[in-house]
Amino acid sequence: MLRNGKIATLNPAQPTAQALAARGGRIVALGGDAEVQQFIGAHTRIIDLRGQLAIPGFIEGHGHFTGIGEFRLGLDLRDALTWDDILAQVARAAQQAQPGAWIVGRGWHQSKWAAPPDPNVEGFPLHASLDAVSGGHPVLLEHASGHASFVNGRVLELAGITSSTPDPNGGEILKDAAGNPSGLLREAAQGAAKRALEKWRAQRTPAEQAADLRKMIDLAASECLAKGITTFEDAGSPPSTVDVFRRMAENHELGLRLWVMLREANQKLEGDLDRYRVAGAGGGFLTVRAIKRYMDGALGSRGAWLLEPYSDSPASTGLNLEDPADIRRTAELAIQHGYQLCVHAIGDRANREVLNVYESVFREHPEQKDLRWRIEHAQHLNAADIPRFGQLGVIAAMQGIHCTSDAPFVILRLGPKRAEEGAYVWQKLMKSGAIVGNGTDAPVENVSPIACFYATVTRKVKDGSVFYPDQRMSRQEALRSYTWNNAYAAFEEKVKGSLELGKLADVTVLSRDILTVPDDEILSTDVVYTIVGGKVAFEGTAGGSRR
Ligand SMILES: [Zn+2]
Repeated sequence: MLRNGKIATLNPAQPTAQALAARGGRIVALGGDAEVQQFIGAHTRIIDLRGQLAIPGFIEGHGHFTGIGEFRLGLDLRDALTWDDILAQVARAAQQAQPGAWIVGRGWHQSKWAAPPDPNVEGFPLHASLDAVSGGHPVLLEHASGHASFVNGRVLELAGITSSTPDPNGGEILKDAAGNPSGLLREAAQGAAKRALEKWRAQRTPAEQAADLRKMIDLAASECLAKGITTFEDAGSPPSTVDVFRRMAENHELGLRLWVMLREANQKLEGDLDRYRVAGAGGGFLTVRAIKRYMDGALGSRGAWLLEPYSDSPASTGLNLEDPADIRRTAELAIQHGYQLCVHAIGDRANREVLNVYESVFREHPEQKDLRWRIEHAQHLNAADIPRFGQLGVIAAMQGIHCTSDAPFVILRLGPKRAEEGAYVWQKLMKSGAIVGNGTDAPVENVSPIACFYATVTRKVKDGSVFYPDQRMSRQEALRSYTWNNAYAAFEEKVKGSLELGKLADVTVLSRDILTVPDDEILSTDVVYTIVGGKVAFEGTAGGSRR
């Protein structure tokens, strides 16, 4: 039982309450302290909220669950302010690594560096600088976007990439002035390097590999719970990982609820879809009924597929990653097997192509009235396509924090006209009737809903500027985007996303009232309790009753 609090329910019929009681994982009472009193039993845990804010548990709408754990196991390059910082981190890791072991890092972004490396190609370093500190270890450093990697000479060698290797379809091997690979591999060009990494990983025993996966899942779960997340929508895992999720859910070992998009090629999907489809396994801890595909890459690495060339690279319109005809085939499989389809689209061309596929499939299946297919990111839209989300009932699964992280290069890449017209246009989408979700794409961004909530309501960039303020969400809209909207985008709004009688008792308690405190205080909000199914799954040190 929670009492003496400010409970924001997101239920329009009863927007606030002082107290909440749960039994058997569900909410059985909501109201004033006196009204819920009668539910106290001999074994009831009573938490005095001391006026603090309780909200429906945060739902991460798009992240990469095992990626969060994997990130923790490798080098975290997100805070590097220069290329030299990264070289120093690699040098330290190289001294500690076992002979032949790969050194893997993630999260660097050249736009965060104080100055471009010297020498550089398009602002990216040359691999010789990395070779000098790697001690012979293969080194692969993934870009924050996940859509490019920087590798050293040893990896180029293992991957068989030389000056004469042509760019693969949907990828680019960035070359220096002399025509040699610089070390930067965009999009599909990362494939050969990642296959070499997988080959090394696969040489370890199955027990070692299973232990690693389990470690990643546990690390991810504890990080999410500590940040107030009660459900995580995983943006693409292979069947082998889903098998592990399933076992853990059934053994009540997951900690938080997962909703997972299955990620594999059409040929395999066809046989797997019926076998993997599950709703609420392990008492509501695992749902698998969505498929993930990729139409394009990311804007930062110029992999987003655009209608018109990049403003800062006039020869390029970005990359189409998966053939629209192939995605069309996936769409048919999704209809046949009762799955949602979730396609990654960042550039305006990619978004248009996905909307075209969806529209044509919807037209052929008029009997399907409530599909809730999603576009993951829906980041840069042509004005003509904005209303199509609402019209078609397509969910815009967006990430508030991408807006403020990417803002420094959005105008460079797109120019001011496209940026204003269609970049992170939350208000335009909502006004057209679209459901807009929220999340972090972790580990691309920190999985913290608080930092993302702040970005969503302020659109304030590090330099103090505000990125097209008219598209900001209100506090209520932002909270809804992170709870009810994400639940709806997963067909789970009947059990989650708001606090109502009979719904799951998934609740997050915060040290500050993020619905009313001044903007600048939002970021210093701590998670006090994360409650999953009526049980305290995380308890912070920021306040609340210790009794
Ligand atoms: Zn993603």
